[in-house]
Amino acid sequence: MSSSLSNFIAADSEKCIGCKLCEIACSQAHSESTAFTVGALTSPILPRLYVVQTPEITVPVQCRHCEDAPCANCCPVSAISRKNGAIIVEKKLCVGCKTCMLACPFGAIELLPVYENGKPIMQPVLCEENESSVDEAPMLFAGKCDLCTDRAKGPACVEICPEKALSLIDPARMKRDRNIKAAMSFLNTSQNFS
Ligand code: SF4
Ligand code: SF4
Repeated sequence: MSSSLSNFIAADSEKCIGCKLCEIACSQAHSESTAFTVGALTSPILPRLYVVQTPEITVPVQCRHCEDAPCANCCPVSAISRKNGAIIVEKKLCVGCKTCMLACPFGAIELLPVYENGKPIMQPVLCEENESSVDEAPMLFAGKCDLCTDRAKGPACVEICPEKALSLIDPARMKRDRNIKAAMSFLNTSQNFS
């Protein structure tokens, strides 16, 4: 197995209690605001992972940083690429066409408004009532997990979860560790027969 496989964040549904702290921490990690209380927030909560709650399960879902990423393969303006071992959306290039949103098998992409200095950036759009005139609407981009690659302490969701339900997985290391565990178990089994 290649040692350059992308890392991803995995969630344990047995541990998740659906408190959504991971969503709040994710939103805060991707905002310019340094607010520490909900009242001091200058923009809405805009997470890049989504806690799914059904009668059967409560668990966050987010980007798997696919090796042959369907979102990157279908982006018509090449706004999605692999950087520092993560699949990243270049906000400035994204035109909000939603193609990646439809292609992602996990529903890991949401079109999010672009905020600057606590305000949404507006862009001209065609007017609904009169197609020859122009209106204004918030600029959108394809928001998704970027593994918090710019954050010194790593993914904010992993750090905040009170139940330790989230972990950053290095697939190549996990495979090596499992191989070693299996080898040790063979060793113990064969010693029992000698
Ligand atoms: S912070 Fe942890 S327990 Fe709370 S919703 Fe997220 S994964 Fe579940
Ligand atoms: S957004 Fe979806 S398609 Fe793109 S890398 Fe993540 S999981 Fe794969």
